[in-house]
Amino acid sequence: MGEYNVKPPAIEAADLQWRDGIPESRQFGDVYFSRDNGLEETRYVFLQQNGLPERFQALEDNDVFVVAETGFGTGLNFLATWQAWQQHRPPNNAILHFVSAERFPIAPEDLARALELWPELKPLADELLASYPPLFRGNHRLVLDEGRVRLTLFFGDVVDAWSTLTFQADAWFLDGFAPACNPEMWLDEGIRLIRRHSRAGTTIATFTAVGRIRRALQSQGFVMRKAPGFGRKRDMIVGHLPSEEAEPVQAQIAGPIAIIGAGLAGSLLANNLAQRGVEVVLIDAAQQAGAGASRNLQGASYVKLGVDFNAQTELALTALNFAYQAYEPYRDSVWHPTGLLQLAWSEQESDRQTRFLDRNHYPESLLYPVNASTATDLTGVPCPSGGLWFPRSGWLAPQTLCQRLVEHPRIHQRFGVKVQRLTPCNGKWHIASDGGPDTIVESLVIAAGHLTPTLIPLQSSFRFKAIRGQVTHLPEGLLKAPGAVICGERYLNPMAGNIAVTGATFDLHNSDPQPTGVSNQENLEKLRAMLPDAFNDHGESSATFEGRVGFRCTTHDYQPVVGPVKDMEGRSLDGVYLFTGLGSKGISYAPLLAEYLADRLLAHPEAIPGPLRKLLDPGRMIRAKTKDTRKNTEL
Ligand code: SAM
Repeated sequence: MGEYNVKPPAIEAADLQWRDGIPESRQFGDVYFSRDNGLEETRYVFLQQNGLPERFQALEDNDVFVVAETGFGTGLNFLATWQAWQQHRPPNNAILHFVSAERFPIAPEDLARALELWPELKPLADELLASYPPLFRGNHRLVLDEGRVRLTLFFGDVVDAWSTLTFQADAWFLDGFAPACNPEMWLDEGIRLIRRHSRAGTTIATFTAVGRIRRALQSQGFVMRKAPGFGRKRDMIVGHLPSEEAEPVQAQIAGPIAIIGAGLAGSLLANNLAQRGVEVVLIDAAQQAGAGASRNLQGASYVKLGVDFNAQTELALTALNFAYQAYEPYRDSVWHPTGLLQLAWSEQESDRQTRFLDRNHYPESLLYPVNASTATDLTGVPCPSGGLWFPRSGWLAPQTLCQRLVEHPRIHQRFGVKVQRLTPCNGKWHIASDGGPDTIVESLVIAAGHLTPTLIPLQSSFRFKAIRGQVTHLPEGLLKAPGAVICGERYLNPMAGNIAVTGATFDLHNSDPQPTGVSNQENLEKLRAMLPDAFNDHGESSATFEGRVGFRCTTHDYQPVVGPVKDMEGRSLDGVYLFTGLGSKGISYAPLLAEYLADRLLAHPEAIPGPLRKLLDPGRMIRAKTKDTRKNTEL
């Protein structure tokens, strides 16, 4: 099953046939759940035999309980577990985290039909359906039940899932189709990986009683026994992993976490951690959140997807889809999913799009090609060419979002405080600051955009670049107001109040923080060349328009930097993390990266699988030659 029969990033959907209203897989010739009573079967085989309701009740504050499953199918097991969680969860911040792998995901319309069978699960099913990802390969993170339930849903083969995801399970649901018709699900390799992802005391249950499966689990150290099966089935098997057989548990961070920098990255991370019950000290030299590069009035959720589907493209796509979900609560106030047109604005871009479409297959809910006339209809602006239409993209008011994110009782704001230096102090970090008290914490995250390298407590030089970008505010009436974002050599946003933002310049060797008429002129010229029929004027001067300057923190390989700081030898610096290098992609990347970094800080299952995580590694940012460039300059 390692082979895929569709072009990436699409993945084959489950081919269902319905008999008496019950879904069966044509690929495997088996039913998804018992014809007798699927929900009762799930409750008996998986919940009860793993001792779940009782174990939920016993969780302590900030605990995470991880259930891992082979074969997400209709999500019935997940929904039944979530329902039991709602009924039995403790009155504290504990989180249920469900990890599941699915090789043939069920298409959303089929999923909705299958879940109609369980009226009592309807509110949960509706919430799942609203965030269920488009069918593309790789890992998806769903944040549900106001963050109290998280679902890590890997679309791909189970062995790939367990080889690339990072998590440790408390309970396993082994729920492939019957081993005889679904051998890939029950390979010894998969069972070996199950053990690798198990904590001491992990329990395991499966509907099958096949001797080979029981012996394979036993050979991995699980203590297995038979239990009476559900309904007409005679037996099932259930077991646990004794302590001495388990992998060591990752240490969790204790105490508050400090975040330096309250831009979009820092604010999203602070809010994410606070929602998971963690106290956060959020420090910024400015008097409010979102005062640096995130101060732009508008920013587009834009990603440029590579012609070839590789790890970078997968990261971009996963991030874009996650951002769409993450901003949903802010729809219409700060988030406007108007759709986005990536205009084929030059011959080169048009060729690139042709090759891109030829080599890949993207679900239409993510993107599809449009001709000039459709592009014009969709954006409300005369478009000289077609392009790619991204229905889930749009624009965001980043500063307003930052300000809303940081209003949380567990976020302790230290605004107007300039960090001077970070020094180790008895296994903790001492944050020395001007304008506020010093802070001592075990863990801190530097999310200070282009100023990040000045704060890293290492005698090294780094490969970050600060690149000036000036946006221009276009007054109402200058051009036909677009109803969607248009991206080409410049981007153009819909009107926000009585202006629309266009930009941004990309000034490699310019550190001027003041907006200039020259940069406004450049933005206007490029925009006019891109959308010549959009303007109501005849090219009058732009020198009087307002502009504003931000500095992107860019990396040599244009990938973000998220994770623990590493020294020249590649050793992690305990307790110091980076979250930066977002370049021009912060709006689409920051929510997923914040989710991932919070996972990592708290030793929760990680939202980003290994091959994509490598792209983010801070170790790559250190220059080989050591120079004493440590400045400890101000934030
Ligand atoms: N737990 C599901 C539910 O609650 O509806 C039912 C699971 S169904 C019995 C088995 C699932 O395993 C199917 O959805 C099937 O596509 C999936 N599957 C089969 N082989 C797989 C593989 N090699 N990797 C991942 N998933 C696989």
